[in-house]
Formats: sequence, structure tokens, C-alpha cells
Amino acid sequence: MKTIRTTRAMAAWSERLRREGVTIGFVPTMGALHDGHRSLIRAARLRSDALVVSIFVNPSQFSPTEDLSTYPRPITNDRALCREEGVDVCFEPTAQALYPQGFQTIVTVPALARRWEGAARPHHFTGVATVVTKLFGIVRPNLALFGQKDYQQAALVRQLVEDLNLGVAIQVRPTVRERDGLAMSSRNIYLSADERRIAPLLFQALRAGQEMIEGGISDVAMIEQIMCQTMEQAPTIHVEYLAVCDPNSLEPLSVVADRAVLLGAVRLGSIRLIDNRPVKIPGRKSRTTR
Ligand code: AMP
Repeated sequence: MKTIRTTRAMAAWSERLRREGVTIGFVPTMGALHDGHRSLIRAARLRSDALVVSIFVNPSQFSPTEDLSTYPRPITNDRALCREEGVDVCFEPTAQALYPQGFQTIVTVPALARRWEGAARPHHFTGVATVVTKLFGIVRPNLALFGQKDYQQAALVRQLVEDLNLGVAIQVRPTVRERDGLAMSSRNIYLSADERRIAPLLFQALRAGQEMIEGGISDVAMIEQIMCQTMEQAPTIHVEYLAVCDPNSLEPLSVVADRAVLLGAVRLGSIRLIDNRPVKIPGRKSRTTR
């Protein structure tokens, strides 16, 4: 496995392979790799001839009050995982390489970024959309894989690829969870033992909502109430949002019909957790009214 740090060397490597007709798969990450990332890397490995994983803790998607400086950076373990999974290139650019002096272009996807994570974290999705566009421009992959864990992010990436004609096939893979349902996340290591014990409640609340919908309940107010009641079992968890949304526009629904996504974000101490459950019921139609 090669480690590449400069944008020029990365672009040259990709260009050479593309000219040989090799298909390039790409998994962008911020490192601190876990089994969720591993599942994306494995899926990409099966679907492409050459595989690039980027490890870049992107400063432009963190606000000044967020955890950029303490974000975990176990680079030796990350490289070992990439090697184990047959990654060809680990692309580790510096912030200076991606955002040199004079950098000014930004990419925004306003409607999809307006609510939920976008409302809780202003500028976050502009940072994500801009860095993904840049990474695609450097790596020029045929295929890129993203996790459903970050549902809104995946929706936004699909939209920007289509809007900007980037010509990258996007695949979204299911969320990998711990045995108790907690979605794997690089930030989970910062949960205290008590916080870790109650963290799966978010998954349980979303699952309760999912079961109601699958059981025929379509009234969103009732579904949201049950999800909130599940969270009340742990008063130290602060709910930021628990919402029933259209799976494509992410606008809130008033009545669920054939498809929805349940989105949730909570805070435990200083750690934010997000999760979601897509739900499908054949034979009914949803209404967006809020
Ligand atoms: P991150 O390193 O957190 O920026 O995530 C890099 C990619 O891994 C994103 O596409 C995430 O959605 C995906 N990812 C993170 N956690 C999980 C998980 N538990 N299951 C599946 N994919 C994940």
C-alpha cells in the first residue's frame, strides 16, 4: 500500500491508472477507522480495480466550538486497517495542501443542508460538500462509497454529484452497529462508561418509531411522541431532534405512507450522536405538510 500526501502525486497516480482503463474506487474518511469504515472499504474493494481511501480531518466542516483539535487521529492503526483490507493508496493530504493561501471556492447544497445536522451545525455541510468535490477532483474515482449512518450527508453528496455532473457513481452502505444497536462512530470512544450504557437508546427510539410505522401507524405526532418517550428513560440525554422525514427531500412529514426516514440526534455530555432508520411500506403514499 502506498501513502500519498500531495494532491499532485494523488492526481498523477489516478490519471495513470485511468489511462490504463483501471476503475478506481474511493472511500473518503476522517480516519479513526472502525468496522463501519471497513464495510465501505470491503464493498469498494469488490467493485473496483484500484482502491483509494482518504484520511483527512477536514477543518472546514467543524465549527470553532467543535472537536477539531481533539478528533481522534490513530494514523498507524488506520494504515494497518487499510493494508489489511487491500487498499492501494491511503491519501493523507494536509489542510494546507487542500486549502492553500488564496483558496476561495465553496460548494453548497442549500435545500438538503437546511434542516437537521445543517441547522445544528452551521457551515458543516458546506465544508463537507466542498471537500468531497475537491477530493473527487483530485482522485477522479469511478465509484465512491458513503455510509447510511450519515444519511443527510449521503443525500447531499448524491445531489451535488448530479448537479455538478461529476460522473462518480455513489453507493450508500448500511450502518454498522455495535451488538446493542449503537451506530459505530469514531467519537464513541469519548463516551464515559455511563454514557456508553445509555447511548443505544437513540437506536431504540428510532426502532420504536420504525415499528410503529411498519405496524400501520401513520400519524407523525404519535410516532414522534413515542420516540421522545423512549429517550425519557435517560434524562441525561438531551434530544436535539427526532423526526419523521421524506427520505429524499428530508422535509418533515405529517403523515407517513409508503416511505420515510427517521432521523435523530442527541447530546450526551459533550458528545453528539446521530442515527437514522429508513422505513418502507409498500402500497401507501406519504404527505409533506410542515
Ligand atoms: P467519517 O470518517 O466519520 O467522516 O466517515 C467516513 C465514511 O464512513 C462516511 O461515509 C460515513 O457515513 C461512513 N461511516 C461512519 N460510520 C459508519 C457506520 N457505523 N456504518 C457505516 N458507515 C459509516
